[in-house]
Amino acid sequence: MNYRGRFAPSPTGPLHFGSLVSALASWLDARAHRGAWLVRVEDIDGPRTVPGAAQDILATLERFGMRADEPPDWQSTRLARYQQALEQLKAAGLVYPCGCTRKEITDSLQHAHARNTTLAYPGTCRNGLHGKPARAWRLRVPDDEAAVVTFEDRWQGKQTQNLATEVGDFVLRRADDQWAYQLAVVVDDADAGITHIVRGADLMDSTARQIYLQRCLGLPTPRYLHVPVVTNEHGEKLSKQNGASALDCEKPLEALSAAARHLGLDVDGGASAKAYTTLDDFYIAATAAWSKKMRLAV
Ligand code: GLU
Repeated sequence: MNYRGRFAPSPTGPLHFGSLVSALASWLDARAHRGAWLVRVEDIDGPRTVPGAAQDILATLERFGMRADEPPDWQSTRLARYQQALEQLKAAGLVYPCGCTRKEITDSLQHAHARNTTLAYPGTCRNGLHGKPARAWRLRVPDDEAAVVTFEDRWQGKQTQNLATEVGDFVLRRADDQWAYQLAVVVDDADAGITHIVRGADLMDSTARQIYLQRCLGLPTPRYLHVPVVTNEHGEKLSKQNGASALDCEKPLEALSAAARHLGLDVDGGASAKAYTTLDDFYIAATAAWSKKMRLAV
């Protein structure tokens, strides 16, 4: 197998401990498979992108000894490709324009909630815009059992989501004229030939949508592995938004050892704690520990 993995940071701030865990897991999985590891900068969310953050993240990865096998991909250079994918879906009659505002959707969902149904998009614009201007484009999800997506997560086990009842028709092109993450990630992973996706479990909930979209676009489905997310003392996912501090680039081995421990990897040699003196030593031990944990034959 020609393994190709990736790390796909959003440049909304410097790399923090939570994103280091995802980067390390994807890096170790690629090394354990003797595959390629790529980096993609997810810089299409204009309002959230912070100038200089992408360069900062790339420099930190380098400093931590994670070197991509190919030059990084930048989503901002691929907008025409996303448009092409949307056109393909339009031609197949799988998408429709939606004129609902967030408030209208919330109001109708509260009504749905009162009726004890689920909180999926209710499909208001499925059969027309009701005289409203088009704001976004949504992918139509099936009403039958084709809406049930099942996949085997390499860390979390079997996952099932019913897109019709749990998600509803989802947005591919947002009302603020930005491409939705779901469309961009699916097109990019396919174009880069990604075979294995390793990322944080906060993205688990998006995976069924991505698999369904791959099917609609005739693209292959990679293997998935979602690692446990790092939380702060309030139990919230560590993120740039809730003030996770940047990593100390002077002490990469300390942060990497802590990230490996978060992944449950025995890199300290059990009782006799071992301090690594070089990044190479650390990565050799961590790759072996990852292979053992994931039961990979290397
Ligand atoms: N850019 C996303 C994030 O930073 C990750 C996307 C992915 O790995 O699929 O949360």
